[in-house]
This record gives sequence, structure tokens and C-alpha cells, in this order.
Amino acid sequence: MFQAEKLYEGKAKIVYTTPEPEILLTVYKDDATAFNAQKRGQIKGKGAINCTISAALFEMLEKQGIATHYIDKPAENEMRVRAVKIIPLEVVVRNIAAGSLCKQTGLPLGKVLPQPLVEFYYKKDELGDPLLTRDRLLLLELATPAQLEQLQTTALTINRHLSDFFGSCGIDLVDFKLEFGLDKEQKLLLADEISPDTCRLWDRSETDQKARVLDKDRFRQDLGQIESAYQEVRERVLAQLGMGKD
Ligand code: UDP
Repeated sequence: MFQAEKLYEGKAKIVYTTPEPEILLTVYKDDATAFNAQKRGQIKGKGAINCTISAALFEMLEKQGIATHYIDKPAENEMRVRAVKIIPLEVVVRNIAAGSLCKQTGLPLGKVLPQPLVEFYYKKDELGDPLLTRDRLLLLELATPAQLEQLQTTALTINRHLSDFFGSCGIDLVDFKLEFGLDKEQKLLLADEISPDTCRLWDRSETDQKARVLDKDRFRQDLGQIESAYQEVRERVLAQLGMGKD
């Protein structure tokens, strides 16, 4: 009988083998971490909510022609995905200044950027996930110049689709982080997750700087009502996709 093997346990997900070698099972956890895991906690129901939101967004992006690792969602906190070799880069796209961009540049929180900004961070906890220059990224051979070009273009295309989609949900997509992987044929696939843990999402109907926050900043900044904010995002996303209540 097949015995699932735990391949990897991250901060928010556990990855298991499945009977099919090219398919993995990711289990989304309620654990929450921030500031390179210096702040830890639990957000009740987060695993199921983020898995549902991620699955819905991957399906939406697939329909728009973006290749993702998503296969299906056998349970509310479980996702089957194609096995890929993750590129150790966090690809961040920003539309509005927030977070580390404000901290490092002095740009005011909420400034709408003249055009989306794509940034690459080295996914390496021991180094604190530093911001990379293009030359450092190539020096470390984290991607080839052609892959870098493809990552940049794909990230901007995903940003257009996600910004439009969240806009139709009455939500501003401030910024978000993507991860990509390569399959056996070296094809680039969007991987990891897209959820309130990895995006900054502001409710357009709220002008108050704290009330508008529908993402992990509620946890990072101890703003309270974390679960209800995540649920609000899930409900709006599913309603917009005509999927109703999960
Ligand atoms: N982000 C993420 N994982 C990380 C770092 C950032 O998902 O390890 C997301 C974060 O939620 C935000 C965007 O990437 O939507 C930009 O984050 P930023 O660089 O501003 O860092 P932060 O302020 O979160 O430290």
C-alpha cells in the first residue's frame, strides 16, 4: 500500500508525496509567521481559506493562459500540484507603495506607483530573504537571463489579471509575492500560493488605513479580526467567480 512521505514542511504548508511521482499534495496549515518567523501565531481556519482562495485564483489564471502547478483541491485545506523544482526567488510585484518598499525608499504608504514594480528577493531564510539586483541574481545563477526575462513578463501579466480580478471584487491589489518552479521539461510554472498571506489587499470601500486591510498585515500589525478579513476575501473571490459559498 502507498505510504505518503512528508517531503517538506514550510511555515504555512506541508508537502507530501502521492502515488504518482509527478504529483504532490500540499496541506495548508493555520500557522502564521511574520518578520522571518520571529512572530508566530495561528489564524483559525486560515489553511482552508487560503487553499480555497489559491485554488480559485490558480484556476482563474489558468483560464487566462498562465501555466500553474495547480491540479485540483481534494479537501478544503489540500491541493494537488505538479511536482516542480522551485526557483529560490520571491518575485514581488507592487502597484501601491507599502511594506518594505516604504521602509527602504521613504515612499509614503499608499502612493500609487506610476507603473508596476517587479522585484526579486533571494528565498533564503538564513540571509533574511535579501533584495537582489539583476546582476547578483545572475551571479548566483538563480535563473538564466532568458528565465529572468520570462519571470518578469509573466509576473506582470499575472499582475494585470489579478489586479483586474480583485478590482472586480472591490479590492485593491497593493502588492504580492509569487514563486515559480520548473517541471521535468524545464517548463516554468507558477507555484506556491496566492492568498491574503502573500498579497496586500485593501478594501476599496474603506478609507481608514487600518480598516481597509484584508491581509496578513492584520497579523503583522496586531490589527485584530484576522479570520474575518480572510473570510471576507474568500467570500468576495468565490462570489465573483460564481462559486458561491464553499
Ligand atoms: N511577501 C510574502 N512572503 C515573504 C515576503 C513578502 O508573501 O517572505 C509578500 C507580502 O505579503 C507582500 C509582498 O510580498 O504582499 C511585499 O512584501 P514586502 O517586501 O513589503 O515585505 P514585508 O513588508 O511583508 O516584510
